[in-house]
Amino acid sequence: MDIHASTLSELSAGLAAGEYSSEELTRHYLGRIEQHADLNAFITVLPEQALESARAADQRRREGEAGPLTGIPLAHKDIFCTRGILTTCGSKILSNFKSPYDATVVQRLDAAGMVLLGKTNMDEFAMGSSNETSWYGPCQNPWDESRVPGGSSGGSAAAVAARLAPVATGTDTGGSIRQPAALTGITGLKPTYGRVSRFGMIAFASSLDQGGILALSAEDAAHVLGAMAGFDANDSTSVDRPVPDYAGDIAAADLGGLRIGVPGEFFEEGLDPDVATAVRDALGVLEGLGATLVDVELPHLGLSVPTYYVVAPAEASSNLSRFDGVRYGYRAEGVSDLLDLYRRSRGEGFGAEVKRRIMTGTYALSAGYYDAYYLQAQKVRQLITDDFRKAFTKVDVVMGPTTPTPAFGIGDKTDDPITMYLNDIYTIAANLAGLPAMSVPCGLVEGLPVGLQMVGGHFEESQLLGIAHRYQGATDWHRRMPEGY
Ligand code: GLN
Repeated sequence: MDIHASTLSELSAGLAAGEYSSEELTRHYLGRIEQHADLNAFITVLPEQALESARAADQRRREGEAGPLTGIPLAHKDIFCTRGILTTCGSKILSNFKSPYDATVVQRLDAAGMVLLGKTNMDEFAMGSSNETSWYGPCQNPWDESRVPGGSSGGSAAAVAARLAPVATGTDTGGSIRQPAALTGITGLKPTYGRVSRFGMIAFASSLDQGGILALSAEDAAHVLGAMAGFDANDSTSVDRPVPDYAGDIAAADLGGLRIGVPGEFFEEGLDPDVATAVRDALGVLEGLGATLVDVELPHLGLSVPTYYVVAPAEASSNLSRFDGVRYGYRAEGVSDLLDLYRRSRGEGFGAEVKRRIMTGTYALSAGYYDAYYLQAQKVRQLITDDFRKAFTKVDVVMGPTTPTPAFGIGDKTDDPITMYLNDIYTIAANLAGLPAMSVPCGLVEGLPVGLQMVGGHFEESQLLGIAHRYQGATDWHRRMPEGY
């Protein structure tokens, strides 16, 4: 078996058993990144730094100080600030930005001994569902290189699916971990809002953004979440609550008596019938493992996309006002005065989708419109949250498809933002309600992966990971690899 077909948990055992060193492992993945550079999964690759940290991890192991993640290579979405290393957020406006500090997530995984291979491609400022808004160009889906890997964490998803890295970080504001995980056949986890620190994670929509994981299995995600999660005084929305032993918890997971809510709204018009079949088959597998399926309603689900496209752009327009060409980032040349400097630096530095969001967001927040749009959207957001609260009085978890269709072609939806936005119809509600959610590979439709989505109650990550772990014990969809990789 090729080393890279292994999950993180298997690599961790291999390192512990001395089957290979972290340096050997790191060289192997660096070689693969180079070999599959055409995927455009990485914006920055860090060969020297990675080998240096791998040697340090090997040393740590020799000293008897290794944990389960020590020496395991990883990739960070280029939205996480990394000290002294380019952090672009997929944008021209940050194309020369080297962060003076590490994001908390970066610092914690570094402290756990993980080896950073590089920074992955992404939609510009995480605005997109296909990785096509990246200033660094689209990223390919290894299952079919003419198709998108999803977005905005498209580079992280493609990298893990193609086994260029055993695990990667991502962020999810409206589906950006789960949707690309589904479209590339891997496991994605968006934790509860506040579970993982947002410090040093470049802000898109602050009340929705949450850092998480793209991995090959639920077990792998459990190991990484344990190291990433936890209170951070640098993030005012970080929740001060003990971090469970996720990896230990999932081993004990038992689906007997589990009540799975299946909302009819997840299976309405617009859902590809083959995707529906794959998802229903997966629910059948869970039933076989002892779970019961219960019909539930999420009556306001249909309002989640319009609600999100008021709230997210509004927050984005405010967050992105800091990029002015003055203190850091891209600065236009030959300007006539200060206003011209702002106008041209932002005009040249931001791409079309980002400008569209800044404009709609600024409009929604302006005097006279704030009550009509932003405030109204926040009220609908509450109704969506209440729908879930009601559902969770009857069931433990809610499930359905992650996306309405498998991966679409590069260029297919770029001219029609609304169709693009509708790709997140099933994922956005969990962000609006701050709930943890996962996507787990559950089938192939015409050779393309599709995902089963699971949404849990606040801070029920252990339960979600446990269900996914049991499902992966009974199926092998998460083991499938794209041909040629
Ligand atoms: N596709 C959604 C958007 O474009 C969600 C992106 C995300 O989760 N970062 O806003």
